[in-house]
Amino acid sequence: MKKLFIDTLGCQMNKSDTERIIGMLSHFGYEQTQDENEADLFIVNTCAIRQLSVDKAYSRLGNWGKIKRENKDKNIKIAICGCVSNLEKESLLKKFPYLDLVFGTRNIYELPKLLEKINDERICALDDMPICENDYEIVREKSTNAWLPIMEGCNNFCSYCVVPYTRGRERSRSIEAILKEAKDILSKGFKEITLLGQNVDSYGKNLENKPNFAQLLKALDELEGDFRIRFTSSYPTDITDEVIDVVKNSKHICECFHIPMQSGNDRVLRAMNRRYDVEQYRQIVQKIRNNIKNVTITSDFIAGFPSETEEEFLDTIKAIDELQLDYSNTAAYSPRPITKAGKMTDLFIDDEEKKRRLAILNEKVKEASLKSNEKYIGSVLEILIDDVKDGVYQGRTRNNKVVHIQDDKKYEIGQFVDVKINRVTTWCMFGESI
Ligand code: SF4
Repeated sequence: MKKLFIDTLGCQMNKSDTERIIGMLSHFGYEQTQDENEADLFIVNTCAIRQLSVDKAYSRLGNWGKIKRENKDKNIKIAICGCVSNLEKESLLKKFPYLDLVFGTRNIYELPKLLEKINDERICALDDMPICENDYEIVREKSTNAWLPIMEGCNNFCSYCVVPYTRGRERSRSIEAILKEAKDILSKGFKEITLLGQNVDSYGKNLENKPNFAQLLKALDELEGDFRIRFTSSYPTDITDEVIDVVKNSKHICECFHIPMQSGNDRVLRAMNRRYDVEQYRQIVQKIRNNIKNVTITSDFIAGFPSETEEEFLDTIKAIDELQLDYSNTAAYSPRPITKAGKMTDLFIDDEEKKRRLAILNEKVKEASLKSNEKYIGSVLEILIDDVKDGVYQGRTRNNKVVHIQDDKKYEIGQFVDVKINRVTTWCMFGESI
């Protein structure tokens, strides 16, 4: 067997792509190694969302180029895939003379063929192909949770985001293909499936009979067994009443919505090309909370978007409070030159100021997370055990809270346990099984 060293940067979609690459290449004579020194093939699966991730990918290539130069007798090959490939294209071959292959997010299943070709030439493969279904095994990370992509790409063109340029336009997999993969995941003992898509509520729009996301969720909920389903991410104004209704009445679908808000100010939202205002976002959050008990609503926010004033930034801080968002991912704005916002160079906020705003935002998120956890003191919640550290079992509730079990009992990884919550901190809850 040849040895494959693969490094994955970025989101769950990339992690899921990597699992597919490893599984597929296992049919073509490659096994994964964690040791760079024994690798025959290096792949970096990249993220282009922030410059920092791009720089990390380039630094990996630099290290591997050195290993290749020092081991000329070994015929080492180096490849790059993921969002940076789709963005930078052939220029990567010029920039990194030791790079053998650039392939795009849509070309993963062509990889065995491309690996044969790079024996003779350096290649850039970035075809705009339809989502490809095949039966290669997927080597999933050992866990209770498995990723299941239901669609990829995005049509929204938020002014700061590279995804429509890297992952292309929205394309969905068929309900049949998703159900088949879900059954396979469950047959292998996974207890949770997370459905992935840049905008899951757009699911099915490009398919012939236009199934919608609620229909997909219903079909998955009808599968037999003890398991949970999660999904991410939702675009605020695309969440339908039907989806809320399915989550409310389902057995398997967890009470969690990840709904990126990005800013709590209407002018900034317009500049971001988000198609909602603060009031519309508030109404969606309210509707979900009114319908679904113990629901967790999480969000994403950007600090220091070009032209954002101090007052506008403080509207975001206010929104987190008022909407009682349970948790939020945060980031300082990182310019992506290909995007509309990336070209607003004269409106960029100074790096120090962005850092300052991010620190304030993070403090607010911490405060909101603690408040959210405090609501559950005294409640009994179902936990799926997913880890044990120093004899302490831990798991997640249906609404995605981390719980440590403080009793002397033994549990199995993958076991569902009812736990009474006694104490909470900002990021974690503590309890005992009942
Ligand atoms: S909806 Fe999400 S993935 Fe699509 S462009 Fe906006 S931020 Fe990017």
